[in-house]
Amino acid sequence: MVDRISEGSLVRISVGRRFTLGVVVEMRAKADVDFSKLKLISQLCYEQTIMTRPLLKLAEWMRAYYGVKRESVLETMIPGPVRQGMSPKRDKYVSLGERLSVEDLAALERRAPKQKILYDFIAQQFKAQKKSLVLERLNLSAATYNSLLQKGLIKEESRIAERTAYQDDIGEAEFVDEKPLVLNEEQDIAAKSLKATMDKGGFATRLLHGVTGSGKTEVYLSAMQVALDRGQGVLFLVPEVALTPQTVGRIRSRLARYADIQTVVWHSHLSDGERLDAWMALASGKAKVVVGARSAVFAPIENLGLIVVDEEHEPAYKQDETPRYHGRDVAVYRAFLEGILCVLGSATPSLETYRNVKRGKYGIDRLTMRIDDRSMPMMHIVDMRQEIARRRQATQLSTLLVEKLRDRFEKKEQSILFINRRGFSSSMLCQDCGHVEICDHCSVPMTYHRSDETLKCHLCGDEADAPIRCPSCKSPKIRWKGMGTQRIEDAVTRVLPKAKVVRIDADTMSRKHLFREILGDFRLGKIDVLVGTQMIAKGLDFPNVTLVGMVDADLSLHIPDFRANERTFQLLVQVSGRAGRGDLAGEVVVQTFTPHADPIQFARRGEVDAFLEVEAESRERFQYPPYRHLIRQVFRGPNPDKVSFFAEQFAKRVEAQVGDRVELRGPAPCSIEKMKDNYRFQIWYFTSNVGVLMAELVGIAKGINWPADVIQVMDADPMSLS
Ligand code: ADP
Ligand code: ZN
Ligand code: ZN
Repeated sequence: MVDRISEGSLVRISVGRRFTLGVVVEMRAKADVDFSKLKLISQLCYEQTIMTRPLLKLAEWMRAYYGVKRESVLETMIPGPVRQGMSPKRDKYVSLGERLSVEDLAALERRAPKQKILYDFIAQQFKAQKKSLVLERLNLSAATYNSLLQKGLIKEESRIAERTAYQDDIGEAEFVDEKPLVLNEEQDIAAKSLKATMDKGGFATRLLHGVTGSGKTEVYLSAMQVALDRGQGVLFLVPEVALTPQTVGRIRSRLARYADIQTVVWHSHLSDGERLDAWMALASGKAKVVVGARSAVFAPIENLGLIVVDEEHEPAYKQDETPRYHGRDVAVYRAFLEGILCVLGSATPSLETYRNVKRGKYGIDRLTMRIDDRSMPMMHIVDMRQEIARRRQATQLSTLLVEKLRDRFEKKEQSILFINRRGFSSSMLCQDCGHVEICDHCSVPMTYHRSDETLKCHLCGDEADAPIRCPSCKSPKIRWKGMGTQRIEDAVTRVLPKAKVVRIDADTMSRKHLFREILGDFRLGKIDVLVGTQMIAKGLDFPNVTLVGMVDADLSLHIPDFRANERTFQLLVQVSGRAGRGDLAGEVVVQTFTPHADPIQFARRGEVDAFLEVEAESRERFQYPPYRHLIRQVFRGPNPDKVSFFAEQFAKRVEAQVGDRVELRGPAPCSIEKMKDNYRFQIWYFTSNVGVLMAELVGIAKGINWPADVIQVMDADPMSLS
């Protein structure tokens, strides 16, 4: 087999009494174990290698960086149907066998008229036809077919089916045969800069920082073209395929112009068969471009020329199960291993990326203007404390927002209302003065615990009685109730009874076609007001939307997370980026109890750099990421005392072993203390070198005799701290 096997091959080996699959990671002539102990490879699953060399290296890096087992990484990198050694689907094709004389034909017509029909049809074809299609078209049975086959009058061959993932319908609604646009000056400068970097060759990362509606996609496309013209492949990552149908549609329609370049759209709705075919098409070089979410970063493209990560700041790039990798960070590392350019695009770059630009590790290209000089939308901030004081009642829609909704409805323009789902209703917020209780040591909001009426800091464990009156203004209204899309929809219907109001929530998202149908209706103007969570704020481009309302801007500010400001800022900018994308100017109404909070004020003025600057300072003061890396360790189990005991023990060992090289916080309860009947505790480790610390932590974990009911999980560079 040695001639057919190489690094990256998928093989079958018998281990114990069963067969198991393995990936060849190394070819060595001399064994370092006793020869008699070696097992023979029983079978090579696919003629092609299923992992490229850089991917094998990437797997090693991920194993060490994220502190997980190698098989867990491989399981993530190689899609299920490929790993299971599923064989490609085959279709049967039929063509003419023995030719009949005129007499025999007449005899056939008499004895078996249906067979004659089939025979005649096939005799007329120039090439072999798909069996299933022929039978369906002629409405004939398999029995008829089999009789002809047995007589040798037709012959059958089987061919590997061409189920390519690009023939699916994701992004289809947006699929228009667009001509390439003429780049504007800024786009042209950015495109040339990317090309220059690619011409120079080697690894580089560049941030494409462009305001919403500045035409980043067009710049990515020009860089993609450079790679494709050189015969190289391209990896294009989006936070989620279903949520970015327009970007996906645009890329696909543009690449459809290249007859010889096949594009795979990699998303969660692919069937096993499509997944297998898509992977194999990439591995064999038949397809060269992948557009997909996080896991597309592992596409087995040989001779990769470019990686693009759109909306690089999106937390959706982080996988929230083992291995907890960050798609953007893995993309940058892959670009390093491949020695190519990685482009990160965003209107609101993450602090991590911003710092890398500041340090000169990443380059930057900017698009400061919207296409056709369209103006950025005007943002109005509504102080909900005053609103409630004036109207003497709790309200979801402010007078200003209602006024503007009515105005848009009369003018037949469209509106989108967003509510925030990232917040917890459990932080304490005063509805009169906007005061939030914050931990003195950690600068994150304390979390309210109804069960024992306390406030707790989930980072350091600090604890206090929950105040009955606001410590700042003495108001008794220091509680917070969240609001759902349903309530907002009802409120809008009350003020605009004639308008068509549609809501998009988790329910809608789980139904495959409903989301696209709603977006389609919205585009056609059949819907006046769309109500949804911030998850739909990504990448939508509807020219007739002139009003965007952010109903509860505060919620994401009050989550116990040092990224709270960053998230809120990103959310506001992204959300307002949905307004005024056509010829009409847009307006944004933001409702908040904390109108003077930094993220809200910077978002209102559209000052991204200034916000990043201020936020970076505050992170630096507390030495939070990106100034140091954070590894979060969560312990969970049904018995809280036992879980907490093991967390304490772990912390002690870390202190003893590496205490001088790591700053440790906790153990403390997680902000979601109990999840699915498991109690959760966490330890935070701050470090400047994840790889080194992770190796130590993994070593310590191995040395502990874990009971079955205490589970421990490590998360490098966590995005969720709940
Ligand atoms: P961003 O991703 O920066 O928010 P998009 O790439 O979605 O912006 O582009 C916004 C809109 O501008 C799209 O409808 C796109 O077709 C259009 N557009 C982009 N570049 C040009 C151009 N050079 N000329 C005309 N229209 C353009
Ligand atoms: Zn108050
Ligand atoms: Zn604290």
